[in-house]
Amino acid sequence: MSLISMREMFEEAQRKEYAVGYFESWDFGSLKATVEAAEETSSPVIIGFGAKTFTRRDNWDDRKFACFAAMGKTVAKKSSVPVSFILNESDNISMLKRAIELGFNCIMFEGSHLSIAKNMEFTARLVKEGKSKGVDVEGELGRIPAAGDGLKEDYLTSPEEAGSFIEKTGITALAVSVGNVHMSGGGETAIDLDRLEKIRRYTRIPLVMHGGTGFPDRLVPEVIKRGVYKFNVGSIMKKVFLEELKSGLLQENLEEMELAYVHYLVDWLNDRNIFERAYVAVKEIVKEKIRIYGSADKGLRGTYKLKEE
Ligand SMILES: [Zn+2]
Repeated sequence: MSLISMREMFEEAQRKEYAVGYFESWDFGSLKATVEAAEETSSPVIIGFGAKTFTRRDNWDDRKFACFAAMGKTVAKKSSVPVSFILNESDNISMLKRAIELGFNCIMFEGSHLSIAKNMEFTARLVKEGKSKGVDVEGELGRIPAAGDGLKEDYLTSPEEAGSFIEKTGITALAVSVGNVHMSGGGETAIDLDRLEKIRRYTRIPLVMHGGTGFPDRLVPEVIKRGVYKFNVGSIMKKVFLEELKSGLLQENLEEMELAYVHYLVDWLNDRNIFERAYVAVKEIVKEKIRIYGSADKGLRGTYKLKEE
């Protein structure tokens, strides 16, 4: 279909009560696997990259950033389902402005380590910056811990603060901390539905659940009811990718292999390409999540009022 705004995508999701997945890619193969998963399930999808893919300390690799941006835009335009393209979790204002320049149509500012006043100020500035170019901004309030960090009470999003944060910044969506954990395999995730419900009383825009990998399936409909229309998924995709890669490599006898054979395994498109096989596993896990989020069949042609490109 084409690149469409996250705002537009959420309007549909909100109307029909399902969530859209953001599946964080790290290279062309994972990006392609994500879009193919969405196409095979006729689902809208948010594709993109995490800021850490491009950053080392305070600097970003602008060549990599620009190449990946071009790749994402092309993949979005050549897809048969609605796609939004996000730069996820950057705390660097210059980098986020650069993302707008490079054609990402949504950006996520990670300002939760700042004071609420600073977080608000920077987020509002980015919203203003993005507005003229039709770029949506996702903000974050409260801290979403990583697995092993331990959840502290003061990490959790305050419902009252969420209300004023949204009002003062004008963001499109808000990432919340309600017991969800980054990079968690599940088990330890205890979602505070009461808090989410309270947050919903102060908010109208879509809420975002980071930590989709370990998020319990059975709670998905419960949080959608309470305003969550976007899930972020990353860790599980990389895990299945590595597992497949490992088993693919273990099946090959590299020591005794004819040299000509390396092409089949590494780059040529054929059934023995080890990477391609690993991307199939990525595609399958994305499809599974899409079904759980209820967005399958919601990206069919004619669903969105779009100018077809
Ligand atoms: Zn996150």
